[in-house]
Amino acid sequence: MSDTAKPRFSRRSLAAQAMGHVDPATRAVVMPIHVATTYIRDPDNAYSSGFVYGRPDNATVREAEAVIAMLEDAPQALLFGSGMAAATAVFQALDPGDHIVASRVMYWALRNWLMTEAVRWGLKLDLVDADDLDALKAAVRPGETKLVWIETPANPLWTIVDIAGAAAIAHAAGARLAVDSTCASPFHTRPLAHGADIVMHAATKVLNGHSDVVAGALATARDDAFWQRIAGIRRQQGAILGPFEAYLLMRGLRTFHVRAERQAMAAADLALRFSAHPRVARVLYPGLPQHPGHDIAARQMENGFGYMLSVQVAAGEAAAVAAAARVRLWKRATSLGGVESLIEHRASIEGPGSPCPPDLLRLSVGLEDVEDLFGDLDQALSG
Ligand SMILES: *Cc1c(COP(=O)(O)O)cnc(C)c1O
Repeated sequence: MSDTAKPRFSRRSLAAQAMGHVDPATRAVVMPIHVATTYIRDPDNAYSSGFVYGRPDNATVREAEAVIAMLEDAPQALLFGSGMAAATAVFQALDPGDHIVASRVMYWALRNWLMTEAVRWGLKLDLVDADDLDALKAAVRPGETKLVWIETPANPLWTIVDIAGAAAIAHAAGARLAVDSTCASPFHTRPLAHGADIVMHAATKVLNGHSDVVAGALATARDDAFWQRIAGIRRQQGAILGPFEAYLLMRGLRTFHVRAERQAMAAADLALRFSAHPRVARVLYPGLPQHPGHDIAARQMENGFGYMLSVQVAAGEAAAVAAAARVRLWKRATSLGGVESLIEHRASIEGPGSPCPPDLLRLSVGLEDVEDLFGDLDQALSG
């Protein structure tokens, strides 16, 4: 580890240089990609390098994990083959019969997994509106609830949950708090600093930022038995990220701050402009003062309010779908956080049980010219 990895430099500086690590063999400023699945044993049969086999660990994966741990101010981070693999590992580290409380407004695929698979394996689930701390408090069962899972800002309404408030409630009941911080990203929120125990990212999104890697990350407030259980699950179940993906993620992380900053500025600009648009009934963006979570967001988020917003089309669902059909620059696709702006009619992907209004279009703001983005969606809405 080189001198630049010491914390006297900012997160931006450390990420830009990928912790300043250089390859000891060549002095290259970019570390090599380690693809080996197996490693030579010492003559005495030990593994002095610490590496044994490709499923438990990989040096390239460790490089990207070091950047993510630094960004979250965490002692350790773990990378997984997807955001879902990372999230589900946290629940799998619990015991059958454990009670969990999760946000009703959250990433739909994880909510579906909790409602189907997690309960099959004996976890007891309650879904609540976690932005209502009284409701959250009423849902946790002291001594029985082991995990509270929140997402903030939460898909697709950008509901804001008070992380410090949720942490206090979880901890008073003897539970851990985990936060899906994908849409905030470490540029805007560092949940561990607000009392969370585990932070999760779909690194597929803005951390990588180029829509070419599926990856998930967890970072922990402390290296305890629960964290070791999660690490064991990754090791045994083979859920580690591949070395090529880890390398690409690392390349993305070097420009993370510039992208996150620009994308949030553009999202804030578009949120304001579409708020005044005659074809738009409502804009959901935590940066707008009229957003129900704005005050909490202003307290717990920094550097702005993120790259995600939603618009509710005044003429309803059919008009929303028709507008999404007319865009030329925005790409009609799922996912978020990439350099290309995406638009999606969410209700049709989330299916029954989703809290998503049918007139809602979700927007992920990328790096294109804001005037072009506004003009394209303006013409699409106006038909
Ligand atoms: C995409 C996403 C996930 C899941 O990540 P994958 O890499 O697609 O498995 C989880 N949470 C949020 C908020 C997401 O946007």
